[in-house]
Amino acid sequence: MTNNTIETLQKNKDLYGSYESKEVITWCSGCGNYGIQNALKRAFTLENLDQKDVVLCYDIGCHGNGSDKIDAFTIHGLHGRVISLAAGVATANPKLNVIAHGGDGGTLSEGVNHLIHAIRSNYKVLFLHHNNSNYALTTGQPSSTTPLGQPMNSAPDGVYIDPLNPLDLVLSLNPGFVARTFSGDINHMTEMFRKGLNHNGFAFVEILQVCPTYSRTLTKEWYTERVRDLAENSDYDPTNLEQAKKVASEIEKEIGIGLIYHNPERKEFTDLLPNRQGVETAPVEEVKRMNIQNLLKEFE
Ligand code: SF4
Ligand code: MG
Repeated sequence: MTNNTIETLQKNKDLYGSYESKEVITWCSGCGNYGIQNALKRAFTLENLDQKDVVLCYDIGCHGNGSDKIDAFTIHGLHGRVISLAAGVATANPKLNVIAHGGDGGTLSEGVNHLIHAIRSNYKVLFLHHNNSNYALTTGQPSSTTPLGQPMNSAPDGVYIDPLNPLDLVLSLNPGFVARTFSGDINHMTEMFRKGLNHNGFAFVEILQVCPTYSRTLTKEWYTERVRDLAENSDYDPTNLEQAKKVASEIEKEIGIGLIYHNPERKEFTDLLPNRQGVETAPVEEVKRMNIQNLLKEFE
Protein backbone atom coordinates (compact mmCIF):
# COMPACT_ATOMS: atom_id res chain seq x y z
CA MET A 1 0.00 0.00 0.00
CA THR A 2 1.45 3.42 -0.92
CA ASN A 3 1.92 6.20 1.65
CA ASN A 4 -0.74 8.20 -0.19
CA THR A 5 -3.27 5.38 0.21
CA ILE A 6 -2.55 5.03 3.94
CA GLU A 7 -2.86 8.81 4.34
CA THR A 8 -6.21 8.85 2.49
CA LEU A 9 -7.57 6.01 4.63
CA GLN A 10 -6.47 7.76 7.82
CA LYS A 11 -7.94 11.08 6.69
CA ASN A 12 -11.25 9.42 5.84
CA LYS A 13 -11.51 7.10 8.85
CA ASP A 14 -15.00 8.41 9.60
CA LEU A 15 -16.18 7.32 6.16
CA TYR A 16 -14.59 3.90 6.68
CA GLY A 17 -16.21 3.73 10.12
CA SER A 18 -19.63 4.55 8.68
CA TYR A 19 -19.63 1.11 7.02
CA GLU A 20 -18.88 -0.69 10.31
CA SER A 21 -21.72 -2.89 11.59
CA LYS A 22 -22.34 -3.92 15.18
CA GLU A 23 -23.69 -7.37 14.19
CA VAL A 24 -21.80 -10.38 15.55
CA ILE A 25 -19.59 -11.99 12.91
CA THR A 26 -20.13 -15.75 12.49
CA TRP A 27 -17.45 -16.68 9.93
CA CYS A 28 -14.90 -19.33 10.96
CA SER A 29 -11.47 -18.29 12.09
CA GLY A 30 -9.19 -17.76 9.07
CA CYS A 31 -12.10 -17.38 6.60
CA GLY A 32 -11.33 -15.32 3.50
CA ASN A 33 -14.52 -13.30 4.01
CA TYR A 34 -12.88 -11.14 6.71
CA GLY A 35 -10.28 -9.78 4.29
CA ILE A 36 -12.81 -9.35 1.49
CA GLN A 37 -15.16 -7.29 3.67
CA ASN A 38 -12.24 -5.18 4.87
CA ALA A 39 -10.96 -4.60 1.32
CA LEU A 40 -14.43 -3.59 0.20
CA LYS A 41 -14.72 -0.97 2.95
CA ARG A 42 -11.26 0.33 2.05
CA ALA A 43 -12.24 0.53 -1.63
CA PHE A 44 -15.40 2.53 -0.77
CA THR A 45 -13.34 4.86 1.42
CA LEU A 46 -10.60 5.40 -1.15
CA GLU A 47 -13.23 6.07 -3.83
CA ASN A 48 -14.95 8.46 -1.40
CA LEU A 49 -18.29 6.66 -1.74
CA ASP A 50 -21.01 7.66 0.67
CA GLN A 51 -23.27 4.89 2.08
CA LYS A 52 -26.30 6.35 0.30
CA ASP A 53 -24.66 5.85 -3.09
CA VAL A 54 -23.88 2.15 -2.60
CA VAL A 55 -26.11 -0.94 -2.83
CA LEU A 56 -24.73 -4.37 -1.97
CA CYS A 57 -26.54 -7.49 -3.19
CA TYR A 58 -25.74 -10.89 -1.67
CA ASP A 59 -26.43 -14.42 -2.85
CA ILE A 60 -26.90 -17.37 -0.48
CA GLY A 61 -23.64 -18.67 0.93
CA CYS A 62 -21.11 -17.91 3.66
CA HIS A 63 -20.36 -14.58 1.95
CA GLY A 64 -24.08 -13.81 2.19
CA ASN A 65 -23.83 -13.92 5.97
CA GLY A 66 -21.86 -10.70 5.56
CA SER A 67 -24.94 -8.82 4.38
CA ASP A 68 -25.61 -7.37 7.82
CA LYS A 69 -21.93 -7.14 8.80
CA ILE A 70 -21.54 -3.98 6.76
CA ASP A 71 -23.65 -0.90 7.44
CA ALA A 72 -25.04 -0.11 4.00
CA PHE A 73 -28.07 -0.67 1.80
CA THR A 74 -28.01 -4.44 1.31
CA ILE A 75 -30.27 -7.05 -0.29
CA HIS A 76 -29.87 -10.75 0.55
CA GLY A 77 -31.65 -12.65 -2.19
CA LEU A 78 -32.42 -16.16 -3.40
CA HIS A 79 -29.75 -18.70 -4.26
CA GLY A 80 -28.18 -18.13 -7.66
CA ARG A 81 -30.28 -15.02 -8.38
CA VAL A 82 -28.07 -12.23 -7.10
CA ILE A 83 -26.97 -11.02 -10.53
CA SER A 84 -30.57 -10.44 -11.62
CA LEU A 85 -31.24 -8.51 -8.41
CA ALA A 86 -28.19 -6.34 -8.96
CA ALA A 87 -29.00 -5.82 -12.64
CA GLY A 88 -32.47 -4.58 -11.63
CA VAL A 89 -31.05 -2.09 -9.14
CA ALA A 90 -28.42 -0.84 -11.60
CA THR A 91 -30.97 -0.42 -14.40
CA ALA A 92 -33.52 1.34 -12.18
CA ASN A 93 -30.94 3.76 -10.84
CA PRO A 94 -27.70 3.99 -12.84
CA LYS A 95 -26.46 6.66 -10.42
CA LEU A 96 -25.80 4.02 -7.73
CA ASN A 97 -22.69 1.91 -7.25
CA VAL A 98 -24.06 -1.63 -7.34
CA ILE A 99 -22.00 -4.51 -6.01
CA ALA A 100 -23.11 -8.14 -6.21
CA HIS A 101 -21.56 -11.01 -4.28
CA GLY A 102 -21.90 -14.61 -5.43
CA GLY A 103 -20.13 -17.85 -4.60
CA ASP A 104 -18.89 -20.61 -6.87
CA GLY A 105 -22.00 -22.70 -6.17
CA GLY A 106 -24.72 -20.12 -6.83
CA THR A 107 -22.88 -18.40 -9.68
CA LEU A 108 -21.62 -21.36 -11.70
CA SER A 109 -24.46 -23.83 -11.09
CA GLU A 110 -27.86 -22.51 -9.94
CA GLY A 111 -27.38 -19.05 -11.46
CA VAL A 112 -24.96 -19.61 -14.35
CA ASN A 113 -27.59 -18.42 -16.84
CA HIS A 114 -27.69 -15.03 -15.11
CA LEU A 115 -23.90 -14.72 -15.28
CA ILE A 116 -23.87 -15.40 -19.01
CA HIS A 117 -26.59 -12.88 -19.81
CA ALA A 118 -25.20 -10.23 -17.44
CA ILE A 119 -21.91 -10.32 -19.34
CA ARG A 120 -23.78 -10.15 -22.67
CA SER A 121 -25.99 -7.30 -21.48
CA ASN A 122 -23.11 -5.54 -19.71
CA TYR A 123 -25.06 -4.14 -16.76
CA LYS A 124 -23.08 -1.70 -14.65
CA VAL A 125 -22.43 -4.02 -11.71
CA LEU A 126 -19.26 -4.91 -9.84
CA PHE A 127 -19.56 -8.67 -9.37
CA LEU A 128 -17.40 -10.26 -6.67
CA HIS A 129 -17.11 -13.96 -7.32
CA HIS A 130 -16.25 -15.64 -4.01
CA ASN A 131 -14.58 -18.80 -5.29
CA ASN A 132 -13.83 -21.01 -2.29
CA SER A 133 -14.27 -24.20 -4.35
CA ASN A 134 -17.13 -25.70 -2.35
CA TYR A 135 -20.66 -25.19 -1.01
CA ALA A 136 -19.40 -24.03 2.38
CA LEU A 137 -22.64 -22.82 3.98
CA THR A 138 -24.18 -26.29 3.62
CA THR A 139 -21.01 -27.86 5.13
CA GLY A 140 -18.58 -28.59 2.35
CA GLN A 141 -20.20 -30.27 -0.63
CA PRO A 142 -18.29 -30.10 -3.95
CA SER A 143 -19.08 -27.28 -6.36
CA SER A 144 -18.12 -26.96 -10.01
CA THR A 145 -14.72 -25.50 -9.01
CA THR A 146 -13.70 -28.25 -6.54
CA PRO A 147 -10.46 -29.90 -7.75
CA LEU A 148 -10.75 -33.32 -9.39
CA GLY A 149 -10.32 -36.17 -6.90
CA GLN A 150 -10.84 -33.95 -3.84
CA PRO A 151 -12.83 -35.81 -1.15
CA MET A 152 -15.68 -33.66 0.16
CA ASN A 153 -18.85 -34.13 2.16
CA SER A 154 -21.29 -35.98 -0.14
CA ALA A 155 -18.28 -37.08 -2.28
CA PRO A 156 -16.15 -39.01 0.25
CA ASP A 157 -14.25 -40.89 -2.48
CA GLY A 158 -13.33 -37.70 -4.29
CA VAL A 159 -14.89 -35.62 -7.06
CA TYR A 160 -15.17 -37.49 -10.37
CA ILE A 161 -15.84 -34.54 -12.71
CA ASP A 162 -13.30 -32.03 -14.03
CA PRO A 163 -13.67 -28.58 -12.46
CA LEU A 164 -14.81 -25.55 -14.35
CA ASN A 165 -12.44 -22.58 -14.59
CA PRO A 166 -14.65 -19.48 -14.08
CA LEU A 167 -12.37 -17.20 -16.08
CA ASP A 168 -12.30 -19.57 -19.10
CA LEU A 169 -16.07 -19.27 -19.17
CA VAL A 170 -16.18 -15.51 -18.63
CA LEU A 171 -13.49 -14.77 -21.22
CA SER A 172 -15.42 -16.74 -23.84
CA LEU A 173 -18.34 -14.30 -23.53
CA ASN A 174 -16.78 -11.06 -24.85
CA PRO A 175 -16.58 -9.41 -21.39
CA GLY A 176 -15.64 -5.81 -20.67
CA PHE A 177 -13.70 -6.30 -17.43
CA VAL A 178 -12.17 -9.38 -15.84
CA ALA A 179 -9.86 -9.48 -12.82
CA ARG A 180 -8.62 -12.08 -10.38
CA THR A 181 -7.46 -11.48 -6.84
CA PHE A 182 -6.73 -13.42 -3.64
CA SER A 183 -8.45 -13.23 -0.26
CA GLY A 184 -5.07 -13.35 1.50
CA ASP A 185 -3.98 -10.02 -0.02
CA ILE A 186 -6.16 -7.14 1.20
CA ASN A 187 -4.19 -4.48 -0.68
CA HIS A 188 -4.52 -6.32 -3.98
CA MET A 189 -8.25 -6.93 -3.46
CA THR A 190 -8.76 -3.24 -2.62
CA GLU A 191 -7.11 -2.19 -5.88
CA MET A 192 -9.11 -4.66 -7.97
CA PHE A 193 -12.39 -3.59 -6.32
CA ARG A 194 -11.55 0.06 -7.01
CA LYS A 195 -10.83 -0.69 -10.67
CA GLY A 196 -14.09 -2.62 -10.92
CA LEU A 197 -16.07 0.23 -9.32
CA ASN A 198 -14.68 2.57 -11.97
CA HIS A 199 -15.59 0.33 -14.90
CA ASN A 200 -18.67 1.34 -16.86
CA GLY A 201 -20.23 -2.10 -17.33
CA PHE A 202 -20.18 -5.57 -15.80
CA ALA A 203 -16.92 -6.00 -13.89
CA PHE A 204 -16.19 -9.63 -13.02
CA VAL A 205 -13.68 -10.08 -10.18
CA GLU A 206 -12.82 -13.64 -9.20
CA ILE A 207 -11.61 -13.86 -5.62
CA LEU A 208 -9.56 -16.96 -4.85
CA GLN A 209 -11.02 -17.36 -1.41
CA VAL A 210 -9.66 -19.59 1.31
CA CYS A 211 -12.11 -21.72 3.30
CA PRO A 212 -9.97 -23.44 5.94
CA THR A 213 -12.95 -25.39 7.25
CA TYR A 214 -13.93 -27.28 4.09
CA SER A 215 -11.50 -26.49 1.25
CA ARG A 216 -8.54 -27.98 3.04
CA THR A 217 -6.05 -28.38 0.19
CA LEU A 218 -6.47 -24.85 -1.25
CA THR A 219 -4.93 -23.20 1.79
CA LYS A 220 -3.66 -19.67 2.20
CA GLU A 221 -0.12 -21.06 1.90
CA TRP A 222 -0.98 -23.00 -1.29
CA TYR A 223 -2.26 -19.83 -2.95
CA THR A 224 0.50 -17.59 -1.57
CA GLU A 225 3.13 -19.83 -3.17
CA ARG A 226 1.44 -19.57 -6.56
CA VAL A 227 -0.11 -16.14 -7.02
CA ARG A 228 1.85 -13.67 -9.18
CA ASP A 229 0.75 -10.07 -9.68
CA LEU A 230 0.38 -9.39 -13.40
CA ALA A 231 1.19 -5.71 -12.75
CA GLU A 232 4.80 -6.80 -12.18
CA ASN A 233 5.00 -8.22 -15.72
CA SER A 234 5.59 -5.28 -18.07
CA ASP A 235 4.89 -7.52 -21.11
CA TYR A 236 1.36 -8.29 -19.95
CA ASP A 237 -1.29 -6.42 -21.96
CA PRO A 238 -4.79 -6.65 -20.44
CA THR A 239 -6.38 -5.58 -23.72
CA ASN A 240 -5.05 -8.71 -25.43
CA LEU A 241 -7.76 -11.39 -25.20
CA GLU A 242 -5.47 -14.26 -26.23
CA GLN A 243 -2.96 -13.35 -23.49
CA ALA A 244 -5.83 -13.11 -21.01
CA LYS A 245 -7.14 -16.56 -21.93
CA LYS A 246 -3.67 -18.05 -21.48
CA VAL A 247 -3.25 -16.50 -18.01
CA ALA A 248 -6.77 -17.55 -17.02
CA SER A 249 -6.12 -21.19 -17.88
CA GLU A 250 -2.77 -21.45 -16.06
CA ILE A 251 -3.72 -22.24 -12.49
CA GLU A 252 -1.49 -25.13 -11.43
CA LYS A 253 2.06 -23.84 -10.87
CA GLU A 254 1.48 -20.10 -11.08
CA ILE A 255 -1.75 -18.13 -10.88
CA GLY A 256 -1.82 -14.66 -12.40
CA ILE A 257 -3.76 -12.12 -10.36
CA GLY A 258 -4.64 -8.57 -11.33
CA LEU A 259 -6.50 -6.95 -14.20
CA ILE A 260 -6.69 -9.85 -16.64
CA TYR A 261 -8.79 -8.34 -19.41
CA HIS A 262 -10.26 -4.93 -20.15
CA ASN A 263 -12.30 -3.88 -23.17
CA PRO A 264 -13.51 -0.30 -22.56
CA GLU A 265 -15.13 -0.23 -26.02
CA ARG A 266 -18.06 -2.40 -24.89
CA LYS A 267 -21.12 -0.24 -24.24
CA GLU A 268 -22.91 -0.45 -20.91
CA PHE A 269 -26.52 -1.77 -21.01
CA THR A 270 -28.32 1.59 -20.73
CA ASP A 271 -26.12 3.05 -23.47
CA LEU A 272 -27.36 0.28 -25.77
CA LEU A 273 -31.04 1.21 -25.37
CA PRO A 274 -32.22 3.67 -28.05
CA ASN A 275 -35.07 5.01 -25.86
CA ARG A 276 -32.66 5.95 -23.02
CA GLN A 277 -30.34 8.08 -25.12
CA GLY A 278 -30.22 11.70 -23.99
CA VAL A 279 -32.43 10.98 -20.95
CA GLU A 280 -31.00 12.68 -17.84
CA THR A 281 -33.31 11.11 -15.26
CA ALA A 282 -33.15 7.57 -13.88
CA PRO A 283 -36.13 5.18 -14.30
CA VAL A 284 -36.54 5.17 -10.51
CA GLU A 285 -37.13 8.94 -10.63
CA GLU A 286 -39.50 8.75 -13.60
CA VAL A 287 -41.75 6.20 -11.95
CA LYS A 288 -42.57 8.73 -9.22
CA ARG A 289 -44.25 10.93 -11.82
CA MET A 290 -46.74 8.23 -12.75
CA ASN A 291 -49.86 7.30 -10.90
CA ILE A 292 -49.85 3.51 -10.68
CA GLN A 293 -52.63 3.24 -8.07
CA ASN A 294 -55.19 1.91 -10.57
CA LEU A 295 -52.73 -0.70 -11.78
CA LEU A 296 -51.94 -1.78 -8.22
CA LYS A 297 -55.67 -2.10 -7.47
CA GLU A 298 -55.87 -4.86 -10.10
CA PHE A 299 -53.69 -7.01 -7.84
CA GLU A 300 -55.46 -6.31 -4.54
FE1 SF4 B 1 -15.60 -19.18 5.73
FE2 SF4 B 1 -15.50 -21.72 4.96
FE3 SF4 B 1 -16.19 -21.11 7.46
FE4 SF4 B 1 -17.81 -20.57 5.43
S1 SF4 B 1 -17.19 -22.59 6.14
S2 SF4 B 1 -17.34 -19.20 7.15
S3 SF4 B 1 -16.38 -20.00 3.81
S4 SF4 B 1 -14.20 -20.76 6.49
MG1 MG C 1 -18.42 -21.61 -2.37
